[in-house]
Amino acid sequence: MIILKIGGSEGINYDFIADDVAELVKEGQPLLVIHGGSALTNKVAEQLGHPPQFVTSASGFTSRRTDRRTLEIFEMVYCGQMNKGFVEKLQMRGVNAVGLSGLDGRIWEGPRKNAITVIQNGRKRVIRDDYTGKVEKVNTALLQSLLDGGVLPVLTPPAASYDGEAINVDGDRAAAATAAALKAEALIILSNVPGLLENFPDEASLIRHIPKARIDQFMSVAEDRMKKKVMGAQEALSQGIGRIVFADGRVEQPVRKALAGEGTVIGK
Ligand code: ADP
Repeated sequence: MIILKIGGSEGINYDFIADDVAELVKEGQPLLVIHGGSALTNKVAEQLGHPPQFVTSASGFTSRRTDRRTLEIFEMVYCGQMNKGFVEKLQMRGVNAVGLSGLDGRIWEGPRKNAITVIQNGRKRVIRDDYTGKVEKVNTALLQSLLDGGVLPVLTPPAASYDGEAINVDGDRAAAATAAALKAEALIILSNVPGLLENFPDEASLIRHIPKARIDQFMSVAEDRMKKKVMGAQEALSQGIGRIVFADGRVEQPVRKALAGEGTVIGK
């Protein structure tokens, strides 16, 4: 089983990815797809007059401020246009994909944060009406029944809180949790960069391999958004996933290339 996480940043080529996924599925490769949608969410939020806001935690992680209105816009884009758009691309290539959010059937479940402490203008501030959290449990029975039924699950945030509320969760970390729950062999994370760059944005500075024992040292290389990917990789490794690859989602045959080791290979 391979878990494929497709980012939501500008520049990712969803047609190339769908071509590759369809080929792999036809060859009998068991797959599950997870995707994001942040760039389009930002655009739509602007257009709807509720511009995106990002908050930084005390430990330096950036995340989307998700008030109720943002959650609605987030769902329109992630569960709507992005999810159905990719399912359509797969259906047109003969793959029977089923698009679901982590809220559906409580595929992803976890605690909602009661309060997030953020740093604003150098001062700490507590936000209580945020709909964010993290994935602790994966409904593997539901996913397995879909896979056994011969359909390809295409998953996207939000997840379900333990109270059943929709919560925004980080897609890379949700992918790591899913890979661990399904005991996947590999987790492929496609984005609009060739992998983890030593000197971002210099693409020639690609880090090709990170041994399991040295992942901690690479946390400082990653800035803002890449930080969560490294954290997700760390979580996946500690939960027994042998190989995580950060690879380029802008090129032809991106999954095959990632499987062949192009990108940043973490672990084996
Ligand atoms: P996605 O939405 O595709 O999952 P993100 O936008 O969340 O991806 O994360 C990828 C982004 O991380 C890159 O586009 C880049 O701007 C940023 N980034 C920060 N530091 C690094 C780094 N060291 N190497 C690669 N990308 C980095």
